[in-house]
Amino acid sequence: MTSESHWLAVAVATPAHSGIGTPLTYRSAQALAPGTLVRVPLGTREVLGVVWSELPEPEPNLAKSAREIAGTLGDLPPLDEQWRALMSFAARYYQRALGEIALAALPPQLRNLNATQMARRLKRKSASKGHQNPEEAIARKELSNEQANALLQIEEKSGPFLLFGTTGSGKTEVYMRAAERVMTRDAHSQVLVLVPEINLTPQLEARFIERFGADAVVSMHSGLTPAQRLAGWLAAHTGQARIVLGTRMGVLASMPHLALIVVDEEHDPSYKQQEGARYSARDLAIYRGRLLNAKVILGSATPSLESWEGSRPTEEGGPGRYLRLAMPLRIGASGSGSGMPRVRRVDMGRQPRGTLIAPPLLNAIEERVGRGEQALLLLNRRGYAPVLHCADCGWKSECPYCSAYRVFHKIDRTLRCHHCGFTERVPRACPSCGNVDIGTIGRGTEQLEEHLAQLLEPLARPDGTPVRVARIDADSTRGKGSLETQLAQVHAGEVDVLVGTQMIAKGHDFRRVTLVAAINPDAALFSSDFRAPERLFSLLLQAAGRAGRDASVAAASEMWVQTHHPSHPLYEALKAHDYPSFAESQLLERAQAGLPPFAHLALLRADARSQEAAQAFLKEAAQTAQSALAEDGHLSSSLVETTWYPPVPMAVQRVANIERAQMLIESQSRSALQRVLAACQPLLHQLRSAPEHRGIVRWAVDVDPLAV
Ligand code: ADP
Ligand code: ZN
Ligand code: ZN
Repeated sequence: MTSESHWLAVAVATPAHSGIGTPLTYRSAQALAPGTLVRVPLGTREVLGVVWSELPEPEPNLAKSAREIAGTLGDLPPLDEQWRALMSFAARYYQRALGEIALAALPPQLRNLNATQMARRLKRKSASKGHQNPEEAIARKELSNEQANALLQIEEKSGPFLLFGTTGSGKTEVYMRAAERVMTRDAHSQVLVLVPEINLTPQLEARFIERFGADAVVSMHSGLTPAQRLAGWLAAHTGQARIVLGTRMGVLASMPHLALIVVDEEHDPSYKQQEGARYSARDLAIYRGRLLNAKVILGSATPSLESWEGSRPTEEGGPGRYLRLAMPLRIGASGSGSGMPRVRRVDMGRQPRGTLIAPPLLNAIEERVGRGEQALLLLNRRGYAPVLHCADCGWKSECPYCSAYRVFHKIDRTLRCHHCGFTERVPRACPSCGNVDIGTIGRGTEQLEEHLAQLLEPLARPDGTPVRVARIDADSTRGKGSLETQLAQVHAGEVDVLVGTQMIAKGHDFRRVTLVAAINPDAALFSSDFRAPERLFSLLLQAAGRAGRDASVAAASEMWVQTHHPSHPLYEALKAHDYPSFAESQLLERAQAGLPPFAHLALLRADARSQEAAQAFLKEAAQTAQSALAEDGHLSSSLVETTWYPPVPMAVQRVANIERAQMLIESQSRSALQRVLAACQPLLHQLRSAPEHRGIVRWAVDVDPLAV
């Protein structure tokens, strides 16, 4: 070993169960700056790594065992300090290994590039260079007063901003103008725009490309090929892409000149990753903005209660943590109304039992379709019926591997488990007693589509042709590109009545939809999930926003709700399009129940072969952690600020023959909870390797979980 050796801490993707949370030590003949991308040996493989820091010469044993880095990735600029700080924070906050988060943020194909390829790639890129001056591309629209005011505030204040704007109030226009200002002020600055699901909002992408040019805009989402993902990442990392449009993973992108972050539909649950490192892209966006001194705009017509509370003005009338900017009016709204559709409730208690579509709703649909308008019907269950059942012996279509029923899909006559995927042909007779007359319980989108087609069959469109009913849900859109095709058909007016799950409620700009109906939304009112009402309200208001996007028909458009609880406060608030009063009543309940945003939560989850084993692990984890922490002077004060609940089975307790349990830890203090969780990590790894917990398949911590 020569005295020339440099010692480097390199972040690599270590398996989560290894318990290795920190970068590994490697040797290098040359000094490498932190952030340099390298290839390093790990076990028998060669993997991608990021140099995290230079280390002092380690003690001889470690020095001897440390391996040599295999090479660097050519001319690629190092990942900057702020990006590394973001990764460190995310790893710490969400209780994951640094290498896991950092490497998950990089396109896997980077590893396969050698220096020459990389140099060629970058050269080719910069030869097609020369950005379109954003200003040239802009077709000037006169801003509404609300838009102009919002932009002024964004210009003058530092934020973060909560842009609370009705659907159709012109939020996207505000994002684009804010982006344009940031980009014209500085020839390098970059803009990150996060959206919940990119394939559901192709129009947004089109609008950005139209305005800023295809060269300036790259997309980042899981639907890209590895090569596309690599190209997009490189463009962002080298500053060639000025705008990154991405789903939650976009928040981890390397953007050295990032100056503005937009989180559109900030309330959307898809911003929270639900496996591995369970980060919230919205929350990381706020952190990243602070780190970079970049502006952050959270936009929504129905903000998350966290963001709404965070933007509550102070008692003295000053701004809260976020500056709230309101745009209550739809573009083109005239007179006193906000231009939002009228909400009509149908009391299903007054309809014959088992009614799927109440006669007044059916009449309204017929009327619309007869005029050549479109209707959109929402039902949040796919398949034909959620359960198949034998009235003679009580048999139900349970999944043998999950604590759930298999759903009846009539189209291909299958019973399918929506949790583990187990699929079988529908039995001809009851598997338990042989009764040939087995029936269904409940209704799904397939049945709604079939039923509606029958009801509307006698009817004709204005040109005499038959009425066309279509369905969009996860089943109808399995093939690549099929969602886009089906959406295009709706846009082209080839569909009169569209049936679907929440998929169709989001973002789409269906110009000719004048009626939206929620067929059976009540379940969320009484769900054990404390966020269910918030989600329902936002879904319904968003769905209502689909109706009458075209100002010429907005006044006459309607949102129908079929309910057994027509005077429920949630529907009252919906009728008034009054998000603030809904939010206030929900926040009151949350405060009384000690739930977020008034408390901070973390879930400790364990999967095992038996429910007893899963719960026993969690129980022992709690005992071990509590007694260890109680003895530590520093940590004991944090410990007393946390409340630990007993382990319980998860809502769907068994999936694919794995039993799942969880344990809630709660605290008024985010930092106390953080300290306690961090101290638990090594104890949990230790516990997991004890022989009596061999039955544990995996365990994980979920910080700020969506559902408890
Ligand atoms: P949101 O994102 O709030 O739903 P959009 O930005 O999509 O609203 O705006 C709704 C529609 O109004 C779009 O078709 C958009 O092009 C149009 N629009 C936005 N701002 C203006 C404006 N100032 N003048 C005219 N049309 C506008
Ligand atoms: Zn039977
Ligand atoms: Zn199953």
